[in-house]
Amino acid sequence: MDKQLTVEVVTPDGQVVNDVFDMVVVQAKQGEIGVLPNHTAMISPVVISTARLKKDKESMKVAIGGGFIEIENNHVTILVQSAETPKKIDVERARKAKERAMRRIKQHRKDVDFRRAELALKRAINRLDLVGEDKKM
Ligand code: ATP
Repeated sequence: MDKQLTVEVVTPDGQVVNDVFDMVVVQAKQGEIGVLPNHTAMISPVVISTARLKKDKESMKVAIGGGFIEIENNHVTILVQSAETPKKIDVERARKAKERAMRRIKQHRKDVDFRRAELALKRAINRLDLVGEDKKM
């Protein structure tokens, strides 16, 4: 297959990835979306997860927050709240964010936004997972 995908990962802070790949795998609510060249045009929400961008035998992993994937004409745009490659992840910060979110969830206080804490926990676990540091829950 000679065709490839131009992939951009974009966040409110700027572009994290802009390169050519053979395959993209992201997580939507209903499951995994695998994108190969000549995929039909579509837009789908994506969830907090690891996006995998594959080229030859290598796979680039990016921790992403929620957002959207848009596919059109072999151009893939992953537009998300946040995106980090493994070496950009600050493990200590993610650990602290995880602890903070867990504390808030356990408190069961009326003034704590449960959904917000739950999403913060997911983001932190996702980041720690990607760098293989999620040893304790
Ligand atoms: P925190 O509470 O530590 O800010 P968060 O999950 O609320 O974590 P986000 O709102 O998802 O943070 O991200 C805000 C910005 O900070 C984004 O640019 C994101 O890439 C960056 N960021 C958040 N946590 C980390 C981390 N552990 N390592 C590197 N960058 C991070």
